[in-house]
Amino acid sequence: MLGMSEPTQSSTSPEDAFGLATPYRDVTCGDLRAGDAGREIRVAGWVHRRRDYGGLIFIDLRDRYGLTQIVINETEAPAAAEVANRVRNEFVLEVRGKVARRLAGTENAKLETGEVEVQAASVEILSEAQTPPFYINEPDAPVDETLRLRYRYLDIRRRPMLDRLLLRSRLVSAIRAAHERAGFVEVETPILLKSTPEGARDFIVPSRLQPGSVYALPQSPQQLKQLLMVAGMDRYFQIARCFRDEDLRGDRQLEFTQLDLEMSFVTEERVMDFVEAMIVEVSRSVVPDRPIQQLPFPRIDYHEAMERFGSDKPDLRFGMELVDLDPALGEGITGFRVFDEVRAAGGRVKAIVAPGMADASRSGIDELTEFARRHGARGLAHISVLADGPAGAPAAHSPIAKFLGDDRVSAIAGAAGVKPGDLMLIVADADAEVVADVLGRLRQELGLRLGLADENVLAFCWVYHFPMYQWDSDGGRWHATHNPFSGVLPEDEKLLVTASGDPYKPSRQDPAGKARALQYDIALNGWELGGGSVRIHKRELLERSFALQGYSLEQMHERFGGILEAFDYGAPPHGGIAIGIDRWSALFAHQTNIREVMAFPKTQSGADLMLDAPSAPEPEQYSELGLRFVGLEIEGKQS
Ligand code: ASP
Repeated sequence: MLGMSEPTQSSTSPEDAFGLATPYRDVTCGDLRAGDAGREIRVAGWVHRRRDYGGLIFIDLRDRYGLTQIVINETEAPAAAEVANRVRNEFVLEVRGKVARRLAGTENAKLETGEVEVQAASVEILSEAQTPPFYINEPDAPVDETLRLRYRYLDIRRRPMLDRLLLRSRLVSAIRAAHERAGFVEVETPILLKSTPEGARDFIVPSRLQPGSVYALPQSPQQLKQLLMVAGMDRYFQIARCFRDEDLRGDRQLEFTQLDLEMSFVTEERVMDFVEAMIVEVSRSVVPDRPIQQLPFPRIDYHEAMERFGSDKPDLRFGMELVDLDPALGEGITGFRVFDEVRAAGGRVKAIVAPGMADASRSGIDELTEFARRHGARGLAHISVLADGPAGAPAAHSPIAKFLGDDRVSAIAGAAGVKPGDLMLIVADADAEVVADVLGRLRQELGLRLGLADENVLAFCWVYHFPMYQWDSDGGRWHATHNPFSGVLPEDEKLLVTASGDPYKPSRQDPAGKARALQYDIALNGWELGGGSVRIHKRELLERSFALQGYSLEQMHERFGGILEAFDYGAPPHGGIAIGIDRWSALFAHQTNIREVMAFPKTQSGADLMLDAPSAPEPEQYSELGLRFVGLEIEGKQS
């Protein structure tokens, strides 16, 4: 026990100070093995389960490291038994006793400590506990997520959540180790900052010292890491917290963590080479039993990715590639009005083949059609191929056959490589992006539904050379598809001009619309894991790019003046990437929701249910900041 005397010179050796023994315990609940039989020890932890056999009480004592069985014999240790009788689940105990081999036949092979038990000499209650709102000792029992978030500290006591946080911690350690080996320096950048746009809304923090001014929380440390390159840091990384005020989804939170890195004197290939090697090293150390599908990771040009997979984050664990039906439909009118209109408008008719789905029911097809419509398609055509044609030959059945004619139906089915039993799903639209997007989503959905994606495999891939900009018709400007600082392919640099000749008057006709960025994204099993680019490092070119993005010279200087000025003092060519640690951990932990790998995530509406945030500020707080809440009831909670 802890003494109450004045602290004296410690006699603990550094070795012991690093160890897990403390004044409350000699061993953890996960330590004891057969070889420890006979030792007198102290152990502390939570009551996982208690069983009373009249005269003999068994307690499974739990901590982060494992479970240890404690036996209290009423005759041999009456005082301990008296305490043990009062003990309930989740009480915190310190137990002293002797380690003994369990009787033959009563060992528990599932527990690492299962060969032994501790025969208690004394039991002390360090803390009592109320009955928890859900079972902590039944990790598979479903529990409402609201309750889990409200009592997250109890949820983390449960093995699955704890294991995921341990995995995340191992992931971050492995990332740090790899970066250290490669000469990266970990630098912390400020949280109270100026707006760093990454396409989301900023969180702002009013300044008390400079009333009327605000800080913005970083959407990413983008500008700072570039400034570190100007500073000559050469290789920087950070496990960086980022803040983006946007609507929450399963893979989004208001604050999240990125592995953020930047390197000097690099090309796209060089950044991808390092990041790939680092990811492989980290994966092998954190999830050694999960095979990496392909090495080196496939590097796919953006247009090719959209053409083949309808996605810039393709899941390469299965095929089901998109097929262009145009050649097989042949020249001229097909007879099916939708296809003809789309083709006349220069649109696309493409398909995917869902293996073994030919017998999909009417309602099954309706559901897929609804799915396609939800994502912007006007409809979804299908052809099912059954092995019941004349003389056993496969026959294609389709509601559109009467328009297209059997020959055309067979031609497109043949072009798509449909086999008996397969279902072909066709999307036609004047907008090529709609076709790609809808088929890409259908592909992903069906690939998973049909079990074509091996859950254990890690299929990483790079997608690169994204279009530099997208036209923003509302803003009348070009919008950086990824990062406003992205570099442009050297051969496309001449495209960063306006059609009007006035750099500050962008229009949809500008050659800039065709420019490709030195931008690369990394995808894992159909999720975007991260993205980065080689940056523009010359002031003149960056100003041209900002002008296309709709900034006047004045706005540019107001928002990005710091970095523009820095570029006047010698900026090395540089590039980097940011990879979502939450997503990465989630994928390694076989989860689809990043909340499952975050200790204290927020709900869909951005609330912390445990500490009740956000909450109304104290009146002094906002008056000090010179703020007035207009139209909001400040007493109690804001509505
Ligand atoms: N700052 C970018 C992001 O947060 C990543 C990068 O380009 O390095 O997505």
